[in-house]
Parts: sequence; structure tokens; C-alpha cells
Amino acid sequence: MTPSRDVEGLGRAYSNPHLERANPCPFCGSTTLAIVEGPQARLIRTRTWQILCAGCLCRGPVGGSEAQAVSKWNGEFGPVHRSELDDP
Ligand SMILES: [Zn+2]
Repeated sequence: MTPSRDVEGLGRAYSNPHLERANPCPFCGSTTLAIVEGPQARLIRTRTWQILCAGCLCRGPVGGSEAQAVSKWNGEFGPVHRSELDDP
């Protein structure tokens, strides 16, 4: 893994076409969002996706696809998710 490859991957994450229908971050209002791979269920090796906000570094709900991650970000993201993130 090289730094330059990381930047390339991050660039793709921020220019993901699915982000065109993503709402601004509900916490900081930023529209600089990326779709990144979420936590993986190791046993079944499922790829998951979630939105990462570059403004406040919060992460949205995990979806089974990039489109689903955007839908959940738009429809289900709320304070409850934030409080979950803040838990130790
Ligand atoms: Zn934010």
C-alpha cells in the first residue's frame, strides 16, 4: 500500500457518482462526502459501504451497496447514530 495509491482511492471515493443524490451532512452541513468501505463482516466476507463526511469525519449508516449507503444517509441518519458513535 503506497501513499499515492491511497490518494487515488480517496479521490475516487469523493467523486463517487452515487454522491450526487446524497444530502449534505446533517451535523456540519458539509457537501464534501465520500463513500468508503464500511466494517466488513469477516465471516461472510461481505463488502459494506458508508458515507464519510470530510467536514466533521462522521460516518453514516452501513449499507450493502454504495446506493444503499446513500439512501440510508439521506433517510435514516440522525442524532441516534451520532450518539452511537460517541459511545466508548
Ligand atoms: Zn459533517
